Amino acid sequence: MKSSNALMSGLGTTVFEVMSALARQHQSVNLGQGFPDDKGPEEVRVAAADYLLNGHNQYPPMMGIPELRQAVAEHAKRFQGLDVDWQTEVLVTSGATEALGDCLFGLIEPGDEVVLIEPLYDSYLPMVRRAGGIPKLVRLEPPTWRLPRAELAAAFSPRTKLILFNTPMNPCSKVFDREELEFIAGLCLEHDAYAVCDEVYEHIIFGDRQHLSIMTLPEMRARTVRIGSAGKSFSLTGWKVGYVTAAPELMRTIAKTHQFMTFTTPPNLQWGAAVGLRLADNYFSGLAADMQRKRDHLAVALADIGFDVLPAHGTYFVTADFRPLGFSGTDDDFCRHITVEAGVTAVPVSAFYDEPLLAPRHFARFCFCKHDTTLDKAIERLGRHFGP
Ligand code: PMP
Ligand code: GLN
Repeated sequence: MKSSNALMSGLGTTVFEVMSALARQHQSVNLGQGFPDDKGPEEVRVAAADYLLNGHNQYPPMMGIPELRQAVAEHAKRFQGLDVDWQTEVLVTSGATEALGDCLFGLIEPGDEVVLIEPLYDSYLPMVRRAGGIPKLVRLEPPTWRLPRAELAAAFSPRTKLILFNTPMNPCSKVFDREELEFIAGLCLEHDAYAVCDEVYEHIIFGDRQHLSIMTLPEMRARTVRIGSAGKSFSLTGWKVGYVTAAPELMRTIAKTHQFMTFTTPPNLQWGAAVGLRLADNYFSGLAADMQRKRDHLAVALADIGFDVLPAHGTYFVTADFRPLGFSGTDDDFCRHITVEAGVTAVPVSAFYDEPLLAPRHFARFCFCKHDTTLDKAIERLGRHFGP
């Protein structure tokens, strides 16, 4: 028989699935894959349930139900001051994952160069490559994860079609500041490149940092694609409702990709997401404050156990160096070790690199978007395992 696509068949199974399966097998506390153990806002779930029972459960419009597209546009105005035309500039997708695929397959021509920033979310590289893009990787270095400007500038060329990046950033919890975004925008303008910005953690941001979309910067409105996720903003990761905002010229092609990927997304979940995006400001500030408290809870406890915990300015995750505990294996070894021996699961940060063997091998990513009881159980188990 003929072989299947070599690039796709050569992929491993995503680290999130691997580690969650291992967690189930060993009944460990799963702080690996990023998902809350909260139920999510009741009004959002009730709206979706009600729509499921009483609403129109047939194919919604390809671009998404008007109520959600309008809510995405209103939300962009409320939080980013963006004027968005919901009819021509908003697309609903089945999760940010589909949104990313639609953008990459819609925008990349085989041979185009694509600038990416490591560590990176694990779906980016396979999709860029499958679309025929040539990745140009720029690495952030721990512990500051500062943007290396000279390297970034050198990664751009006349062949650059787009930069794909993520802020707040999974897994290293960096938040790009205005100066960094301005620098990226300058390169996009100089090289006539697009910015595809994965902003799924836009509301999970800590301290006095604020999420800023590169789409708001001068001259970037027409060349930015902004991606959000109801899964993250409403702690409902299983819903897989994403949304793309882009100028009509870009959106037309992205939407044509979407029409043959999924065409649409369950209407009741779209309805629920629309209710969510229209929640009052205090829902969103409360989400950030709650997550920040959970971050502090876990980060302080991991430091007490002996980890060297890096700062986390956003997302669901803290990154911790396990070498001070005396563990000399790789991050893969460590994450398997604590799953099997301590009953707690984390994910190895090297999984977020193109070449894991050449990546930092001493960081584990722990997910803190859990109830205190879950975090306490994990802390107690790790403390017992590594304690005196
Ligand atoms: N981008 C990043 C950075 C993520 O962490 C995730 C994981 N949820 C996604 C995209 C995918 O989001 P969704 O579940 O909405 O597909
Ligand atoms: N975004 C989640 C994480 O980083 C995982 C999503 C998935 O499992 N595909 O943990």
